[in-house]
Amino acid sequence: MARFAEKMVQLGTERSEIREAFAFAQARAAEVGPDKVDDFSIGNPSVPAPKQVGDLVKELVDAADPVQLHGYTPAQGDGQVRKALADDLNRRYGTDYDGDCFYLTAGAAAGLRIVLSALGCPGDAFVTMAPYFPEYKVFVESAGCTLVPVPADLEDFQIDFAAFQAALTPQTKAVIINSPNNPTGVVYSQATIEKLAQTLEEKSQEYGHTIYLISDEPYREIVYGEEPLPWVPSYYANTLVCYSYSKSLSLPGQRIGYVLVPKCAEGFGELYAAVCGAGRALGYVCAPSLFQFVVARCTGQTADIGIYRENRDILLNALREMGYTCAQPDGAFYLFPRTLEPDAHAFCQRARKYDLVLVPGDSFGCPGHVRISYCVPTEQIRRSLVKFQKLAEEYGLGK
Ligand code: PLP
Repeated sequence: MARFAEKMVQLGTERSEIREAFAFAQARAAEVGPDKVDDFSIGNPSVPAPKQVGDLVKELVDAADPVQLHGYTPAQGDGQVRKALADDLNRRYGTDYDGDCFYLTAGAAAGLRIVLSALGCPGDAFVTMAPYFPEYKVFVESAGCTLVPVPADLEDFQIDFAAFQAALTPQTKAVIINSPNNPTGVVYSQATIEKLAQTLEEKSQEYGHTIYLISDEPYREIVYGEEPLPWVPSYYANTLVCYSYSKSLSLPGQRIGYVLVPKCAEGFGELYAAVCGAGRALGYVCAPSLFQFVVARCTGQTADIGIYRENRDILLNALREMGYTCAQPDGAFYLFPRTLEPDAHAFCQRARKYDLVLVPGDSFGCPGHVRISYCVPTEQIRRSLVKFQKLAEEYGLGK
């Protein structure tokens, strides 16, 4: 009988709770009609890509040399494209990147996986704050390393620095952060980033080796607060950025993003070579070429995130009025309220009675909470409120 890699069979067989919830919602929609089911399970952008994206695709397909347009680019991405991305960041953040700091990838997922293989040596640990994007565990472990989740401060989901410092050890190779955050929607304040940078400087000094910071930023442009989002590499030199256009330009299916390795990062020459090497070893070379050329000409553009802001405002205000507790979500398109009983799975099952589909926080390493993905039509947000209300009433709230 044929034998296969056990771990891969397991990963390919077990379904994530997000996928399971999504499948439930689809099955119910087929049964009772889509307008009866309020599916808040999945983070698929509900706002279309800007018109310019479609126009550019048409223009490129009609006018560009098809051999070049559809051909291989260099493994790390087209040189002109990488230069355009560097110029854009330099304009926005006063940095001095050039194209040779970039490696284009099939989304942030590939970027993260590349960076983890580039940095990870046997025995290394990667620390992240819980709740966290569940694929971190899969990616870190498949790079042969260990993920160490540290609970965030549950009041505001900023970093709990006492817990964080206690989790750092000489085995810590890097820390993964994600702000704006999936699943909480929380944005790290400047004070948090400053303190994080200071902690990493001190611990790097203490352990005699650099602790790198991996900033996973697919939601970078989706922010609603007054304060601009801190540009993390300006606070900590040894930061690698994993970026994606999946959310900002609503292009998740096109699989395009990049890894940025600033030249001031410790050991830049070998580090960038390791990123290229990991891309090669994983077969993640030459990110989709048509969309390389598209994103290079869409710098500064986003999908209409005003719709997400409206959704957030309606839902957050209503939930708080009903008595739910929810940390301030100033970015991305997720809310992460506390569940009204300790067992988030039981809470989600009760919600399903109303065809209200939510994801338990346990999936993100944070029980007692539930993720609500509000990247859905505003009409769905409005119609779901009565369901959230009935659910709250089951627990004696909002009567
Ligand atoms: N990181 C986080 C925090 C995410 O939420 C996602 C997708 O939802 C990814 C990475 C992967 O994004 P991509 O579609 O660019 O691979």
